[in-house]
Amino acid sequence: MTIKRIFDVVVVGAGLSGLQAAHVVKSAGLTVCVLEATERVGGKTLTMRSTERGFNDLGAAWINDTTQSEMFKLYKRYGMDAEVQRACGYDVIQLADGSAIKTPYGQIPGDAKLLQEMLQLLRTESSKVNLNSPCDSDGAREIDKLTFGQFCVQRTNNTEATGYADTLCAELLGVESNEVSALYMLHYFKCATGIDNIISDEKDGGQYLRNRQADELGNQTISKKLAEELDSNTVKLRTPVVSIDQSQKDKCVILTGTGESIYCRKVIISIPTTLYHTISFDPPLPATKTTLSDNAVMGYYSKMVFVFKEPWWRKAGFSGVLNTETGPIRFTRDTSIPADDQWSITCFIVGERGRTWSKLSRSARYNQAWEQLSQSFGKLVHDVPFPSNHLEMEWSKQAFFLGAPCPVMTPGTLTSVGENLTRPFKNVHFVGTETATVWRGYMEGAVRSGQRGGAEVVKALCEI
Ligand SMILES: Cc1cc2nc3c(=O)[nH]c(=O)nc-3n(C[C@H](O)[C@H](O)[C@H](O)COP(=O)(O)OP(=O)(O)OC[C@H]3O[C@@H](n4cnc5c(N)ncnc54)[C@H](O)[C@@H]3O)c2cc1C
Repeated sequence: MTIKRIFDVVVVGAGLSGLQAAHVVKSAGLTVCVLEATERVGGKTLTMRSTERGFNDLGAAWINDTTQSEMFKLYKRYGMDAEVQRACGYDVIQLADGSAIKTPYGQIPGDAKLLQEMLQLLRTESSKVNLNSPCDSDGAREIDKLTFGQFCVQRTNNTEATGYADTLCAELLGVESNEVSALYMLHYFKCATGIDNIISDEKDGGQYLRNRQADELGNQTISKKLAEELDSNTVKLRTPVVSIDQSQKDKCVILTGTGESIYCRKVIISIPTTLYHTISFDPPLPATKTTLSDNAVMGYYSKMVFVFKEPWWRKAGFSGVLNTETGPIRFTRDTSIPADDQWSITCFIVGERGRTWSKLSRSARYNQAWEQLSQSFGKLVHDVPFPSNHLEMEWSKQAFFLGAPCPVMTPGTLTSVGENLTRPFKNVHFVGTETATVWRGYMEGAVRSGQRGGAEVVKALCEI
């Protein structure tokens, strides 16, 4: 009879959080195995070649080099070049009637009094939230009962605040402001060092630097390198976990979709909270965890990248930013890498407008998006050329993601069960970007959660 090997730790999912957790476990001299459902590592980082020398990120793209220090350390460790986000020229604003106007980069046209009032409100209110224990913030329960939209309307006493609230929620999280708790949003801003940084493309901002990696693949390279540094055969691809049995005293038994049983002492789950129901647990997950999962929502957050032979918008004095009031594209960014002769505009198709667009066929989706982009710029720029290539990724249609960029909580969830996000269940521990308190929802949050979860498991195993 052969005795099956028992790993110290099995990590479920090979995104940034899972791979980082595996590193911590390995560094402590323990044995680890990473099981990944898809055919690749990287999770919600996915990079594809778009030109002869260039690549584009269809998942996470931006980091910064100050408050996202763990991601920046990984850039340094793997010798990656960072491209500063271009933040100059004219932005294009497409209005509800389809007309287009231009404004200097980053400026809002017309009377932005309400927007300024809202930003000030969100600055003040999010600064009051207790970062490590949001439920202990003043008035937490009352705020958590409200949707973010209701909160903004109540506090500004202006129903038009819903429009700005929807824009923030859709552009950041792919949801509408009536889907997400106000307390969750305030805490999310706090985790990202404040509302000003979360929306900024400049120093300290969430959209400051992009990965320029001419010989390899952009941000997905980080996960590839992390995986390579683990012992060979540590990461098993195309191996979805279907059940976790903790009923035996001395070990956990993981059953995979490929029919394999894998034994271990501890499990680290790095899949999004919204997907917990895809794994069957024995004994079942406690009600607090299932409530967390059932009351979390994944946004609709897709990218359509149009690649061009030359930067026609730069030549005409534009930033490449398009902000819209209607149509599938909500906003765009210039995602070119000049040194690689890679010229592109990435369109964000998000929130409810994205969900509607998503129902179209592939060719209809392309046509609608291209029509909107070319017609909006075409009103202000002569001869918008056809793209030489385009790339698209719909995360909501991928079985092991079902949305992006990260799970968000509906009203009432944070104050009722939010504290259970990181709480282990017997020998099962939980990581993933949504469990972080620094840049929650971002790559930085994923890496930091992996560090926390890995250390938690190492400590627990050392104490046995
Ligand atoms: C379009 C888009 C744009 C974004 N932009 C940015 C940005 O500019 N900057 C930024 O910092 N962040 C951005 N993000 C967010 C960032 O990508 C995520 O926060 C981060 O990658 C999440 O990492 P994670 O490890 O927590 O989860 P994931 O990356 O989701 O990893 C979970 C892994 O688990 C696997 N899995 C799921 N179920 C199972 C199962 N049953 N068995 C085994 N494996 C399973 C999945 O396949 C996946 O590989 C963006 C995301 C998207 C999609």
